[in-house]
Formats: sequence, C-alpha cells, structure tokens
Amino acid sequence: MTALTVLADDARHAQPGHPDRPARMAAIRNALDADPVLAALPRLRGLPASREALERVHDPAYLDLLEAFCERGGGDLDVDTYATPGSLAVVREGCGNLLALVDAVCGGDVANGFALARPPGHHARPMAAMGFCLLANVAVAARYAQAVHGAERVLIVDLDVHHGNGTQEAFYEDPSVLFVSSHQGDIYPGTGHLAETGAGAGAGTTVNLPVPAGTGDELADLYRAVLPPLAARFRPDLVLLSFGADAHRLDPLAGLDLSVAGLADAVGVIQEVADTHCGGRLVATLEGGYHAEVLATCVAAVARRLADPMAEIADPFGPTARRTRDLGTLTEAIRGRHRLG
Ligand SMILES: [Zn+2]
Repeated sequence: MTALTVLADDARHAQPGHPDRPARMAAIRNALDADPVLAALPRLRGLPASREALERVHDPAYLDLLEAFCERGGGDLDVDTYATPGSLAVVREGCGNLLALVDAVCGGDVANGFALARPPGHHARPMAAMGFCLLANVAVAARYAQAVHGAERVLIVDLDVHHGNGTQEAFYEDPSVLFVSSHQGDIYPGTGHLAETGAGAGAGTTVNLPVPAGTGDELADLYRAVLPPLAARFRPDLVLLSFGADAHRLDPLAGLDLSVAGLADAVGVIQEVADTHCGGRLVATLEGGYHAEVLATCVAAVARRLADPMAEIADPFGPTARRTRDLGTLTEAIRGRHRLG
C-alpha cells in the first residue's frame, strides 16, 4: 500500500510573481483527485513538525530568527527566498506530514509513500534559508527515522534538477546517511561537483552526479549504473527520495530535458534499490517543479509507480525532444571516484 500526504491550505505561503506558488499544490491536488487509483490511496496527516524534530538538523538560532521574521510580517530572506506571516505554519505542516509518513512506512502500516508539500526543502541549510527553502524537510525526516525508529543507515536520493546543497551540508561528515544527488551541473546553486564526496567520518558518503543540460531520459541509465552498487555497499534501512519535477524538459527553471516517463523510470531504479535492501521502505518528498501542469503529471506518475511498479505511465507531454547526451565518460568518472569496480 502506498500512502500520500497532501497540504490542505498552503495559500498563506505566497509571493506575487514567485515560481513557488500555491498553484503548484492546487494542480497536484486536482491531478490526484482526477485519477481513481490515486484518489483511493490513503492520505495521512501529521502534527506540525516539532521544534525537537527541527533541531536535529537546524540551529536553534536560525529557527528563532525564522519564527521572529514571520511574526514581524515576513519578506525576503535572501534574493529568491521569501516568507510570509503564515509560512512557518505551512512549512511545519508539510514537514510534520512527511514525518507521519516516515512513521507509517517504518512502522509497516504502508509500503511506501509520497509527501506533497511546499515550499521545497533541499536548499535549506542548518543555519539559513536558501533557494525557496525554509526547512530541510528530507534531512529532518532522515534524522527522525534514526532517532525515533532506530534506522541506522538512511539513503537519500535527490532527483531534483538542482543540487541538494542543504541536505549535503547536513550530512557531509556523517557516515550514517548516504546522499546521492543528480543535478544539472551548470545551474543554481553551483555546488554538487563530482569531487564533493563527504569529509571526516563521512568521506565517501556524499555522491554527486552533475549531469549536463540536455541529458534527457538517459539519467535513469546513470542511476542504473551507480545506485545499485552504492546501495549494496551502504545497505540502507530506509530510502528517502527528494523528488523534483524541474528535471522535466518543459520546466522553466532548468534544461535537463527529461520526459515524465524518464522521471518515472529513474524513480523505478530507486524503488528497486529499496526493494533489494530495505523491504521496499521508500518515502518520497516533493522538492521543485515550476510548470504546474507538468509538476502535477510527474507527481501522479511517480505516485502511480510507487503504488504499482508495473503501472503504465501516462505522458501527455511526450518524449524528450532533443537527442539524449552520452553519459558514458561521466558514468566512468563517477564509478572510478567512488570505486564501484
Ligand atoms: Zn529544483
């Protein structure tokens, strides 16, 4: 059984003209309701994420600052990250729903699930908001699984088109979390180079897959080449997925050129890894995706794939337009750097 979490009222987190807008969640809610299979999936709700849960990742001084900033009326936290008086409640609700999903998957109530919320989280740093992100949702979920459910090794895969710098920073010296991020290498935030592989006790447990613009659906082949051997060495107890639909070819913020089916195929590789190593325990959470209809279609496709690995994926936007890039040299460089044989 696959479970979903859906934000009910995120309209309080909005800024005119900003790409992360309430229309994103509205499109997702409509797509889920329109699909009989997805409409029938259980929808979980959690309590807002507690201060204790957030402090496993975030500095208390940052949480104090964010709370005071929202109370004073909000505004711009950095050049592209805003908060409103209602933002903290919205982001804590989404993060709390994600933690409820971790409870359900780790407790065996459901096999896997997808937490749908905004704003995204993977750019949020332990000490600062960044890149539309206020709280580091997936990092908070990983720490929660370790603290509450006794997970020893958590694999986080980040499929968003941007590098998950906040997630990387949270676990850079921590060998208990393996972070694997694919991203378009030449865009925001500029981190996520092949040579960033972790430090100290965490050396080797950060794996960056910086791919070129126009990569297309071959991204799934790259995952097939590197993720199973990485997971076999790490042996995760739980797999978390930062899913971003901004890798789709129609997304306005990037140019990775994947199709809906290509994104679903990449998720399928991640799902197989969870099946092999941890009884299928996979919890996905939403990051980016700024073409609302494409986002909703991608979310529906991934939820379909989580519910049924053999599900037919509807792709109304069609296949990748350009010829796909040859990732052979990059794949070999990654395999060599991480000694994957
Ligand atoms: Zn993104």
